[in-house]
Amino acid sequence: MADKETQEIKERVAQAIRIIVNEGLIEWSGHLSARIPGTRHFCVLGHLHEEGRSLEETTAEDIVTVDLDGKLVEGGHEPPGEVSIHTELYKARSDISSVLHTHAPAATALGVSGAALLPLNISYGLMFADGVPVFPSACQINTPEVGQELAKVLGNKNAALMKGHGTVSVGTSIEHCCSVSLFLEKAARFQLMATQFGEPQPISAVDLARYAGRKWDSEESRQRFWAFYGGRLPK
Ligand SMILES: [Zn+2]
Repeated sequence: MADKETQEIKERVAQAIRIIVNEGLIEWSGHLSARIPGTRHFCVLGHLHEEGRSLEETTAEDIVTVDLDGKLVEGGHEPPGEVSIHTELYKARSDISSVLHTHAPAATALGVSGAALLPLNISYGLMFADGVPVFPSACQINTPEVGQELAKVLGNKNAALMKGHGTVSVGTSIEHCCSVSLFLEKAARFQLMATQFGEPQPISAVDLARYAGRKWDSEESRQRFWAFYGGRLPK
């Protein structure tokens, strides 16, 4: 049985999963996790593929507690097959509290296009102004070794594209991590649209400098995440 703090984290992870499903970032696969502060454990969506359920109905019972070796600590499901995404990124990045793996369509398509994500839009392109790395192997991240390769490619960035597979984002909170993936998908879609009109012209370095030092994980932005995206969930 999960303690009160863990149960609250599970509730928030489940709600965030319902949100990112509703926003089209994941369908039947993909997973979100959040660290349990002060422990070697994190909460992550369990392995539900065989159950044939839609992730729109995710509840706290679907979230399990796992340690940094990828072993189940508590909960009614096995850890996801790609749990090494979470264990290896948490081990490599003490600064992060949440990890999200998606199969978001536009960002995944960008990852096989050979094109780089460009800073084209001040609403959701700025956090990727210094580039988004691409993990070059179209493989499942199903061993710690491959997870470590992904961590190397991600470096100190907040997002990476996974060639022919999906995306990964990290953040200092669940809200921050999910917002990075949401913005990445919107930025990829926007670039796709701009490319239909002609050759996209990136925002200049002078203009980008106006936004330097901007915080992406303020209390205000966390509240906005739940209020705005949560408000769009079907009643
Ligand atoms: Zn995957």
